[in-house]
Amino acid sequence: MLQLQKNRVNLPPGMAPDKRAALHAAQRIEDSREAITTMMRSHYCGQLNESLDGQEITLCGWVHRRRDHGGVIFLDIRDREGLAQVVFDPDRAETFAAADRVRSEYVVKITGKVRLRPAGAGNANMASGAIEVLGYALEVLNEAETPPFPLNEYTDVGEETRLRYRFIDLRRPEMAAKLKLRSSITTSIRRYLDENGFLDVETPILTRATPEGARDYLVPSRTHAGSFFALPQSPQLFKQLLMVAGFDRYYQIAKCFRDEDLRADRQPEFTQIDIETSFLDEADIMGITEKMIRQLFKEVLNVEFADFPHMTFAEAMRRYGSDKPDLRIPLELVDVADQLQSVDFKVFSGPANDPKSRVAALRVPGGASMPRSRIDEYTKFVGIYGARGLAYIKVNQRANGVEGLQSPIVKNIPLDNLNVILDRVGAVDGDIVFFGADKAKIVSEALGALRIKLGHDFNLLTCEWAPMWVVDFPMFEESDDGSLTSLHHPFTSPSCSAAELEANPAVALSRAYDMVLNGTELGGGSIRIHDKGMQQAVFRVLGISEDEQQEKFGFLLDALKYGAPPHGGLAFGLDRLVMLMTGAQSIREVIAFPKTQSAACVMTQAPGVVDAKALRELHIRLREQPKAE
Ligand code: ASP
Repeated sequence: MLQLQKNRVNLPPGMAPDKRAALHAAQRIEDSREAITTMMRSHYCGQLNESLDGQEITLCGWVHRRRDHGGVIFLDIRDREGLAQVVFDPDRAETFAAADRVRSEYVVKITGKVRLRPAGAGNANMASGAIEVLGYALEVLNEAETPPFPLNEYTDVGEETRLRYRFIDLRRPEMAAKLKLRSSITTSIRRYLDENGFLDVETPILTRATPEGARDYLVPSRTHAGSFFALPQSPQLFKQLLMVAGFDRYYQIAKCFRDEDLRADRQPEFTQIDIETSFLDEADIMGITEKMIRQLFKEVLNVEFADFPHMTFAEAMRRYGSDKPDLRIPLELVDVADQLQSVDFKVFSGPANDPKSRVAALRVPGGASMPRSRIDEYTKFVGIYGARGLAYIKVNQRANGVEGLQSPIVKNIPLDNLNVILDRVGAVDGDIVFFGADKAKIVSEALGALRIKLGHDFNLLTCEWAPMWVVDFPMFEESDDGSLTSLHHPFTSPSCSAAELEANPAVALSRAYDMVLNGTELGGGSIRIHDKGMQQAVFRVLGISEDEQQEKFGFLLDALKYGAPPHGGLAFGLDRLVMLMTGAQSIREVIAFPKTQSAACVMTQAPGVVDAKALRELHIRLREQPKAE
């Protein structure tokens, strides 16, 4: 470092910015050259290979494993690029003694010579497995206590311990690999967006509520007593304002904050690849972002996708019971209410005659052989989604009529109707057909989830990747109290006029689109409202009074009257994307320092108690004294 400082020319303060930039760039190149020659290591462990045979190298890293083999010591040295085997023999007594003293996770610098391993002694699991290093010198840069858990690849230590010592957990090669892949993913995306004219602009973290349907994280203001900032649930409104400002194409890899119940695999802070454009319609935006994802998979995983199919929300719900169908699974829901309206069996005839309900069937090829216990398990499973039971028919021998069907419900359904139903689902001998009959939402969710579970349980997946677009979402969904909430967010443009929207909001469709991959929503967005009158119509439908509109969104309404261009965009969930691309089981596995299921950080012990003085400065008095932890 001292060396670097010495070479620096002080840039005169008055120098023109362009000259300054040129000189600075030249200096940077000079600095990096310097940096390479003054670096401690010559190679990363994982970079060593046969081409370096006979060369002297220097490694810096951690002692992964130490083995003593009949007077020879083997150290596996680990750094972020992988492992290398270093051999110490007793000829160099001092170095040998030093190698004998090191323990797991000591930080060491080793100089030695690369040599090919003897025939048959290679290790195919190691990138550098064809060679080893004959150690000449070993310097201990730092010692380490015995780590709280072993760093072998399949360590099954509990997640809480791993998170508490995340800095050790991240040393595991499989964890490092995921973070490295994450970095390749963001690099590829940044490159693509940059090449396509997108500007990277940062938006505030201390802001007002940006409604995306979750609770806000609030930050008390010291300088404005009693007032709070909200952390952004997304940069939504700012990116729209950037379009009003004329930036045309924006992106940001942005942190978003949502205080949600963490039942599913969610994080209170997560990352979006946030995108907004002007003067493009939904086909253009889907085209640009689909190309981005296609290029990303090609570059990072060498996977090639064909054009993504488009499916309407209505079709997705009807066939798959989900607005993010997993198209790898070839099972489909089939509506059969029309055949059950007049049966003498209330469980079916009730929902079959109710327009807000649904009766659907799901055929599982070859499923008739499943034992009762399995069916009971699935019945319990659909119960999670509110289904009160799971009717079924095992098709043993269709040619035998009712006799050939094994089921507690067939006696309640006339054979003619049964046959129409079985034909409609395509049932053949050996199949089982499950039924859902309830409120439409319950049936779709329950059978939709069962479809996914059956797909995995019966190994039915037809391909590895199934990307798609879901389009034509409804504008609103009805809450239990009958009020309407935005399905996307309130800034999404409807596909009808303001008058039509207000006349019949429940049936209005939006100009929103979601990209779905393997049953996971990768990203979602929409064409936005750029007309003030339309924005106010949507606010009215949502029951937001004129005063509240001004108070919460006055700045947006202002912007819409000063020349807002037509605009739209979308945001991808980066954590979820990385999870899918790395095959990780949870988003916590692809975030360097994630929170636990209870939204806490066990390593830093955040959130933490603050002292009385800090609270007083923030004008806050706690209702109860926190319990001492
Ligand atoms: N802001 C939206 C979200 O967070 C994405 C978008 O509409 O661009 O879901």
